[in-house]
Amino acid sequence: MNTRKMAEKKRIALVAHDNKKSELMEWAVFNKAALARHSLFATGTTGNLLEATLKLPVKKFLSGPLGGDQQVGAKIACGELDVLIFFWDPMEAQPHDPDIKALLRVAATWNIPVACDRATADFLLTSPLMHEEYETLLTDYSTYINRKLK
Ligand code: PGA
Repeated sequence: MNTRKMAEKKRIALVAHDNKKSELMEWAVFNKAALARHSLFATGTTGNLLEATLKLPVKKFLSGPLGGDQQVGAKIACGELDVLIFFWDPMEAQPHDPDIKALLRVAATWNIPVACDRATADFLLTSPLMHEEYETLLTDYSTYINRKLK
């Protein structure tokens, strides 16, 4: 079974759609001490808001609709992000809907923890596993790849 190791200090990606940004900021302020123990990454606008609100460093990608979601997905596929907090808006279609679907798909492909709402984000951040090393089990996709090559 293939695995990927997560260090104690997690690399957390945060993304919030416009109608969800205030909720994410509120959640982040409440959880600032826990978040400060990890490395934070975010799509452009979410990242600027988080940095200004938390006064913590945030590594920013492009804005989501400009390719930021795809950048986050690529980092997940490369094993360079450990956790995704993604407050997507269930009430409004987004111009980058295909990118959102792709990001959620790649996160499931690589078996990383994902929170799409505040309650799940609370459960995730308070898990003891957030502060320990963790070995993620990866699905063996080799038969799929071999089948494609035939
Ligand atoms: P933003 O992107 O942080 O640049 O607003 C979020 C998104 O819409 O995916």
